[in-house]
Amino acid sequence: MQRTPALATESDVIVVGAGLAGLACARALARAGRSVRVLEARARVGGRTWSERMGNAVFDRGGQWLGPGQDRLAALVREYSIATFPTWDEGRKLLEYRGEVLAYDGTIPKLPALALLDLHLGLRRLDALTRQVARPPLSTPDAPRLDGTSVAQWMDAQLHTDAARAVVAAALRVVFGAEPEEISLLYALDYARAGGGFMKLVEVRGGAQETRFVNGAQSVANALAAELGDRVQPGAPVRAIDQSGASGAPVVVVSDAWRFTAERVVVAVPPALAAGIAYTPALPPPREQVHQRMPMGATVKVHLLYDRPFWRARGFSGEAVFERGPISVVFDNTSHDGAQPALVAFIVGDPARTWSLRPEDVRRETVLSLVGRLFGEAARRPTAYVEVDWSTEPYSRGCPVGVFAAGSVRVAGPALQAPTGRIHWAGTETATVFTGYMEGALQSAERVFDELMPLLP
Ligand SMILES: Cc1cc2nc3c(=O)[nH]c(=O)nc-3n(C[C@H](O)[C@H](O)[C@H](O)COP(=O)(O)OP(=O)(O)OC[C@H]3O[C@@H](n4cnc5c(N)ncnc54)[C@H](O)[C@@H]3O)c2cc1C
Repeated sequence: MQRTPALATESDVIVVGAGLAGLACARALARAGRSVRVLEARARVGGRTWSERMGNAVFDRGGQWLGPGQDRLAALVREYSIATFPTWDEGRKLLEYRGEVLAYDGTIPKLPALALLDLHLGLRRLDALTRQVARPPLSTPDAPRLDGTSVAQWMDAQLHTDAARAVVAAALRVVFGAEPEEISLLYALDYARAGGGFMKLVEVRGGAQETRFVNGAQSVANALAAELGDRVQPGAPVRAIDQSGASGAPVVVVSDAWRFTAERVVVAVPPALAAGIAYTPALPPPREQVHQRMPMGATVKVHLLYDRPFWRARGFSGEAVFERGPISVVFDNTSHDGAQPALVAFIVGDPARTWSLRPEDVRRETVLSLVGRLFGEAARRPTAYVEVDWSTEPYSRGCPVGVFAAGSVRVAGPALQAPTGRIHWAGTETATVFTGYMEGALQSAERVFDELMPLLP
């Protein structure tokens, strides 16, 4: 017989999800003197940030970089005295294209002259389009056409060489965890706008990969959770939210062992996860569409640990782009003090989905053979190989972000941030600044806090 969960005391606000969005929102409410409880499905906090010791250092299985303009995250780093350090960016980068390995300096790979020109002009056009995107994105002139176009269609029309297409596709795959065919052009442009431009999202120095956390990015969530203390309840997946009570009656939030009541609820999980909660009454169609139209990207993140950073000795930065994959990019991920040399590789988009189905030893052999081809024999012999397939994480179901496909911004965009009765929606997918990033999660928390405060009794 199924046990009815026991009823627990009432709070002003229940927050669903102890990722950065949920924790930051809860902390703001607690600091404003409100009673708040955070229900987290996993046994840990941090969601898509997840740091663990590997070898002689702590590494990030999830989000790991902080860049300029991510001011909310930088402020928390300062407030909690969290140590950071610059990402290693010295030496030549590599591009594997059509079986050839090409070394280059700067951000743009050294392609044949025609392809290079094509890439430069294409990126310039992309930047010009990004600057035209208005807030909200549907108020952009020509928004329905931009939304109805996939990024791949734009690439087909605007890039004329296979090499330029391959480089842009590899970069987009890493940013979204999705193929250009799967992404609405309007969504991609708005995403790039929110992050300061497409190039900022892919650059190390001056870009979104500029800075790392000495003890991992999860330090931020851990610090927020420590401040919140026993208001955070791990191991409590929310199954149902019921706001069908009479006017003035609290909202009921159901987890496995408990039912909680609150004046308002903040759902701070990606739309693909929010879809797994049963809502009474049923959500209105526009919100339901958000849950149906924002699948998570696919990413397998692989750490390769070594005794020494042999690629640095050979004048390489460790950064490499692969045209075909299954790896799309590699970075040097050596610890701040050099005690644990490491490379990190990302398998993203279609290759992540395909290779996810293969046995780990087959994936491992393939990854090692690819890095070996670039960095030499030593790369084939890591002291440890650690991978996380985010698509198999039941409380993330993919990463780094949920993505709108062509036509979806028009249908579901307006409902992304709009409260549904007493339910408010947070999470990086709802952000208008650095959407998809830790910074976006924090910005969404701020928005929801501002929404809630005038509404609480
Ligand atoms: C591999 C990878 C690399 C990334 N790289 C970067 C990077 O370098 N820089 C950057 O800024 N960002 C990066 N990101 C993205 C960044 O990590 C996220 O944008 C950010 O952490 C999202 O925070 P959030 O609070 O919105 O969502 P989440 O972190 O997803 O938090 C949602 C929380 O809700 C919980 N939950 C889900 N369902 C339920 C339920 N039913 N009941 C209760 N709890 C539930 C989840 O367990 C989770 O803890 C990366 C992400 C990944 C995975």
